[in-house]
Amino acid sequence: MPVARFMALALGHPDHGYYISRDPLGTDFTTSPEISQMFGELIGAWVADVWHQIGSPVSFTLVELGPGRATLMADALRAASGQPGFAKAARIQMVETSPVLTRVQQAALAPVTQKYSYTEPEWLSSVDQLADGPLIVIANEFFDALPIRQFVKTDDGWREHCVVEADGALAFAPAPAPLPDGLMLTQALRDAPSGTIAELCPAATAITTELCQRIANTSGAALIIDYGYTRSAAGDTLQAMRGGEFVPVLSDPGSADITAHVDFQALGECAGPGTTAHPPTTQGQFLLQLGLAQRAQMLAQTASPEQATAIDAAVHRLTDDDAMGTLFKVLAITAGRIEPAGF
Ligand code: SAH
Repeated sequence: MPVARFMALALGHPDHGYYISRDPLGTDFTTSPEISQMFGELIGAWVADVWHQIGSPVSFTLVELGPGRATLMADALRAASGQPGFAKAARIQMVETSPVLTRVQQAALAPVTQKYSYTEPEWLSSVDQLADGPLIVIANEFFDALPIRQFVKTDDGWREHCVVEADGALAFAPAPAPLPDGLMLTQALRDAPSGTIAELCPAATAITTELCQRIANTSGAALIIDYGYTRSAAGDTLQAMRGGEFVPVLSDPGSADITAHVDFQALGECAGPGTTAHPPTTQGQFLLQLGLAQRAQMLAQTASPEQATAIDAAVHRLTDDDAMGTLFKVLAITAGRIEPAGF
């Protein structure tokens, strides 16, 4: 089967899919909102700023794609709710396919949505069910979980990269026949040496294109944060994690988180007329520009010495070049004249 099918089944199979059956956060991997409340708070401030820039509409949809434990959304709502009119205007829609994580998210959001009198949040399984009207979308470590197609260059052209069974085990192999002429023939790839791997994520571009069309029609913005690369390039980025360690991608499918790095150039190119893709920045620069250091200082003032050390460690983990600061990129796609904070 093609790599894309393998990845879709390993993550989303109704009985055995990785995300369908568990809450993997904190055991197999950790994400920025789980590292510190400051991450979600700063994104909440970012959202509130966009909402002001689009004219503080009395009704808009606040969307999170792949919300994990909803820690980001809960922290963001706490931070944004101080803006007069924000809580009344926001209709919260969470796009999630995992039943286990949906329950975790419902429990995590209830206290904060009740406290600030938000309308009941809604859960959807796909972006085509989003409400009409102005839209502000957040996605942290969502796009890396979408199935990628892989291609391998052979002596007679590019072939789909597949997962096959060989001698009782799973292995990668090129498809029996080359792709039709014209596919994978961008200039950069035309002369790639035999054995080169290239990737495309059709699900990511389809979702981003849909969001861009809605934003172009009704205003708003999307904020996409993930590990990835700013210029499209060949390379094998498929990886699997279990228990915080990298493991072979084909070992025990369904038991590990399989992801690929995100091609931010490809996502930015989905921005059509009426939308602007702002050149991606790094997570480190983005958070520092939004005021991470100041927020950390504020929190440290009322913290115990141990808490202050933890706050400092979180700042470094989120922003240092040898931690998450550079590998993680941030892309904002906005309606026409909006100038997103942090870029
Ligand atoms: N954003 C969270 C979680 C990241 S893990 C955080 O930063 O902590 C990836 C999330 O995307 C999980 O919630 C997973 O269930 C969800 N997910 C994976 N594939 C999805 C799909 N095709 N549609 C919707 N949600 C998906």
